[in-house]
Amino acid sequence: MNIAVIGGAGYIGSHAVKLLVERGHRVIAIDNLGMGHRAAVHPKAKLVVLDCANVARLAAVFMTEKIEAVMHFAASAYVDESVADPRKYYRNNVANTIGMLDAMHLAGIKKLVFSSTCATYGEPEKVPITEDMPQRPISPYGQSKLMVEHILLDVARAENLAFAAPRYFNVAGAALDGTIGEDHRPETHLLPIVLQVAMGRRPSMEIFGTDYPTPDGTCVRDYIHVWDLAEAHLVLLENLQPGRGLFYNLGVGRGYSVREVIDACRAVTGKDIATRQVARRPGDPPALFASPEGMARDFHWKAKITDLHVIVESAWRWFQAHPNGYQ
Ligand code: UDP
Repeated sequence: MNIAVIGGAGYIGSHAVKLLVERGHRVIAIDNLGMGHRAAVHPKAKLVVLDCANVARLAAVFMTEKIEAVMHFAASAYVDESVADPRKYYRNNVANTIGMLDAMHLAGIKKLVFSSTCATYGEPEKVPITEDMPQRPISPYGQSKLMVEHILLDVARAENLAFAAPRYFNVAGAALDGTIGEDHRPETHLLPIVLQVAMGRRPSMEIFGTDYPTPDGTCVRDYIHVWDLAEAHLVLLENLQPGRGLFYNLGVGRGYSVREVIDACRAVTGKDIATRQVARRPGDPPALFASPEGMARDFHWKAKITDLHVIVESAWRWFQAHPNGYQ
């Protein structure tokens, strides 16, 4: 297929580009390079530097490149920032996605995989989280993604769009061949921050909250390897149905606490990682992990990398080989 990957130079998008190329697809990565990195785009993919807010140009690219399906990763994704600057989040994540849908409509494209998030569930009543649980986001970020889920459902019904909106849990790790990895600026995610301490680039890291109602008092999250996540996108793309939306959790189905993540990093790197215990970060639910049964039941798909140490090893390889990321 001819597939456009919007946000194809970003962390998750670049892994999706690589996977699609390796599985024989023709890939056009579209990215404004605001957060993404040119060097992250697989050499066999074509990079078009373009802001997806430019609907006319986006539609022209879709048509020129004979795009048959779109994967849309471009989004703002910092929860804290979304609270401080909600307009940015509704503009980038909602308004620009509507523009992207206009461009798809102009080009007659009917297949879409759109990145959603477990943040749409807010503070769930129970874990593991199944797809039918209530979605009550507690941040503008989660709200913006849920709004798009609703918009997509209406557009699918009206225009026979076939779409999937996988809801990501905590995406981590780097391509197993070491070629691409994570390079966020600023970095806010737990695993890269811990590994930056291991590399001596930060003196210590902060543990946000040690008084949660969890076994060791720190937050529990479900860490899924970025390559598994990319593969799940392809599975969803291959199973799209006209006029319908597919909503699936993408997680491993087990939770690790912040302390367990730090311990795994100590074990993999052999480094002593200095930590400081600080107050909770606002908006962090105590425990989030997926029920992965939906993907297993309907598509016989499960994440292959279930050991946190393997995820950490892949990220550690990337950081050691690229101490300055893509710079
Ligand atoms: N976390 C932490 N210190 C950090 C960064 C994150 O203790 O410097 C915790 C955070 O409170 C959360 C978990 O690690 O419980 C994962 O956070 P991250 O920002 O990686 O992902 P999120 O769960 O917010 O999507």
